[in-house]
Amino acid sequence: MKAEVYPVCRQCGEVPRCGLFDGFRIHGRFFCTECQERLLSAEIGSPFYLEMAAGLKEALRQKRSGGGF
Ligand SMILES: [Zn+2]
Repeated sequence: MKAEVYPVCRQCGEVPRCGLFDGFRIHGRFFCTECQERLLSAEIGSPFYLEMAAGLKEALRQKRSGGGF
Protein backbone atom coordinates (compact mmCIF):
# COMPACT_ATOMS: atom_id res chain seq x y z
CA MET A 1 0.00 0.00 0.00
CA LYS A 2 1.30 3.40 -0.85
CA ALA A 3 1.01 6.25 1.56
CA GLU A 4 -1.28 9.04 0.50
CA VAL A 5 -0.80 12.51 1.80
CA TYR A 6 -4.20 13.69 0.69
CA PRO A 7 -7.30 11.59 0.49
CA VAL A 8 -9.24 11.35 -2.73
CA CYS A 9 -13.00 11.44 -2.50
CA ARG A 10 -14.65 8.18 -3.52
CA GLN A 11 -17.57 10.05 -4.92
CA CYS A 12 -16.13 12.89 -7.02
CA GLY A 13 -12.52 11.73 -7.28
CA GLU A 14 -11.25 15.12 -6.12
CA VAL A 15 -8.77 15.94 -3.42
CA PRO A 16 -10.64 18.08 -0.91
CA ARG A 17 -9.58 21.69 -0.77
CA CYS A 18 -8.82 21.64 2.93
CA GLY A 19 -7.07 18.28 2.89
CA LEU A 20 -7.48 15.45 5.34
CA PHE A 21 -10.02 17.09 7.56
CA ASP A 22 -12.31 18.30 4.81
CA GLY A 23 -14.53 15.28 4.78
CA PHE A 24 -15.19 12.02 6.52
CA ARG A 25 -13.89 8.51 6.31
CA ILE A 26 -15.77 5.25 6.45
CA HIS A 27 -13.60 2.16 6.64
CA GLY A 28 -10.81 3.78 4.73
CA ARG A 29 -13.03 5.29 2.08
CA PHE A 30 -12.98 9.02 2.02
CA PHE A 31 -15.87 11.31 1.12
CA CYS A 32 -15.31 15.04 0.91
CA THR A 33 -17.39 17.65 2.68
CA GLU A 34 -18.59 18.98 -0.63
CA CYS A 35 -20.13 15.64 -1.57
CA GLN A 36 -21.54 15.27 1.90
CA GLU A 37 -23.28 18.61 1.54
CA ARG A 38 -24.42 17.79 -1.96
CA LEU A 39 -25.89 14.58 -0.61
CA LEU A 40 -27.72 16.40 2.15
CA SER A 41 -29.26 18.82 -0.31
CA ALA A 42 -29.83 16.25 -3.04
CA GLU A 43 -33.29 15.02 -3.70
CA ILE A 44 -33.86 11.50 -2.47
CA GLY A 45 -33.83 9.29 -5.54
CA SER A 46 -31.79 11.68 -7.68
CA PRO A 47 -28.82 10.21 -9.54
CA PHE A 48 -26.31 11.87 -7.23
CA TYR A 49 -28.14 10.64 -4.15
CA LEU A 50 -28.32 7.07 -5.43
CA GLU A 51 -24.70 7.03 -6.49
CA MET A 52 -23.45 8.35 -3.19
CA ALA A 53 -25.78 6.12 -1.18
CA ALA A 54 -24.40 3.12 -3.07
CA GLY A 55 -20.85 4.21 -2.32
CA LEU A 56 -21.63 4.65 1.36
CA LYS A 57 -23.40 1.32 1.59
CA GLU A 58 -20.46 -0.37 -0.04
CA ALA A 59 -18.14 1.22 2.51
CA LEU A 60 -20.38 0.26 5.39
CA ARG A 61 -20.60 -3.30 4.20
CA GLN A 62 -16.90 -3.67 4.98
CA LYS A 63 -17.81 -3.62 8.63
CA ARG A 64 -19.22 -6.88 9.89
CA SER A 65 -21.27 -5.41 12.69
CA GLY A 66 -23.29 -3.43 10.18
CA GLY A 67 -25.12 -0.42 11.50
CA GLY A 68 -25.91 2.19 8.92
CA PHE A 69 -27.31 5.61 9.44
ZN1 LIG B 1 -16.34 14.52 -3.18
